[in-house]
Amino acid sequence: MVSNSKLTILIVGRLSGPKNQVILNILRQIPAILQSFPGARFQVVGGPVTDEHRRLERNQPAIHFEGHQPNLKVFYQKATVVIGAGRVALEAMKLKKPVIAIGERTYVGPLRVANIEKAKATNFGDCFETESFDWEQLTKDILYLLRDSKARVQVAQTGYELLKAEYDMERVYPQMNGLYEKVMLDHNLSQIHELPILMYHQVLDKQPALAKFNLHVLAADLEKQLQFLKDHGFETIVFEDLLTKRIPKKPIILTFDDGYENNYRFLFPLLKKHRMKAVVYILADRKHKTNFWDKPLGEAEHALLKPAQILEMQKSGYVEFGSHTFNHTRLTLIKKAEQEKQIAGSKKVLETFLKKTVHSFAYPYGVFDPEIKKITQAAGYTFGVAVSHGPTEFQGDLMEIKRVHMFPQTSTFDFFKKTSGFYHRYRALLGR
Ligand SMILES: [Zn+2]
Repeated sequence: MVSNSKLTILIVGRLSGPKNQVILNILRQIPAILQSFPGARFQVVGGPVTDEHRRLERNQPAIHFEGHQPNLKVFYQKATVVIGAGRVALEAMKLKKPVIAIGERTYVGPLRVANIEKAKATNFGDCFETESFDWEQLTKDILYLLRDSKARVQVAQTGYELLKAEYDMERVYPQMNGLYEKVMLDHNLSQIHELPILMYHQVLDKQPALAKFNLHVLAADLEKQLQFLKDHGFETIVFEDLLTKRIPKKPIILTFDDGYENNYRFLFPLLKKHRMKAVVYILADRKHKTNFWDKPLGEAEHALLKPAQILEMQKSGYVEFGSHTFNHTRLTLIKKAEQEKQIAGSKKVLETFLKKTVHSFAYPYGVFDPEIKKITQAAGYTFGVAVSHGPTEFQGDLMEIKRVHMFPQTSTFDFFKKTSGFYHRYRALLGR
């Protein structure tokens, strides 16, 4: 029997938008619960903690706002009951904790055989056509679980078995971090009509003396292209958007390979000015300061982004970073163990540096084979971007996403053709 003073109800979720409203409503049930369990604690993990939350905390000593916590596991482990939706529910279930599922849209309740289908269909409360909450029932359910340790074990067991049978993330979705992301990605993929992905490298202010491979665009031309996209109703997204939110009607992804310092100097100001987003592929080994790999081929040397510049760009919200291996290696020329290190190892190193999940990987030189694609997926990337290979439709193969190569001489007319998803199909028809 757990003593009263140790009972902890853990609530996990964002403290903004609709989820914040749901959490505030849950906290309104506290007085009724304290009548039966005066020592119960309500821990809320998630952010941002605002003055309103701090005021609640001062007025109700049973509430503890813990803010955003990178290591949720310790909180789950100490909790008597976990309240949450989506990924929170799954993580708690995995640790055999009794879960009361409630999300942005609906109340599901403690996981039982009777409501498992609803839990699955709504992503544990986050997706439902109409909003429906039963706060009285929530209070009853919390009291019931606090009172009855056998019921807690049973609910935890039901959740654990559901997870094992249907949601084993390592087994079913090797490339996914959470079910929520999988659900959102599926939704977005089903909605995408066209999703052009453009590939750039350097952004320069003036024509370079030496540009053997023509891997640059002039900032003035790039700005015209950005304006063109805006004028034609395109909205730039990054890969994370595909996993976390409903994407706009006419999405487009701008990618910049290698992570040149000129991206900070000439691309970043344009993104901020036009409020547009881009994905930049960087090397995970920060000791490389230039595009040393191009030098033997006779290409000019250019500085790569410095760590502080990368972090500043990420913090702005306009730039997402992806991995481009440790040292721009040609993956088809190295052994499997080395491929794994370059692909999975670079992800880990970048995630530690960026403090963020790295969702996409760009194959250097656009070279890969089926085995390399498998390694990329197994490493946990959701997207592998190629150059000229890949199905004509974005949804065709997420580990082989075709991009449109942008050259310095790309004219407005070419640009129009290239931003149309039909471009790939048109070229495929012509056999080019
Ligand atoms: Zn590259």
